[in-house]
Amino acid sequence: MKNMSLVQPPISTAQGFIKCDVCPARAMHESNFSTGSLYFCNHHFEENQAAIQLVAINSIQIGQEA
Ligand SMILES: [Zn+2]
Repeated sequence: MKNMSLVQPPISTAQGFIKCDVCPARAMHESNFSTGSLYFCNHHFEENQAAIQLVAINSIQIGQEA
């Protein structure tokens, strides 16, 4: 009866959210590069935003503040 076709995020924790690639915080932004994707919390997205915008194909918000 069950037809579960869940798309799993590449990085997730037991809490079910994607983790920042820099620290253990919850990722709020996904940035796509020609080489792959990186996930950032708000803090690290803002810290690296200038560099990300130079090289990223795009960046999307994937989470909201709790
Ligand atoms: Zn972070």
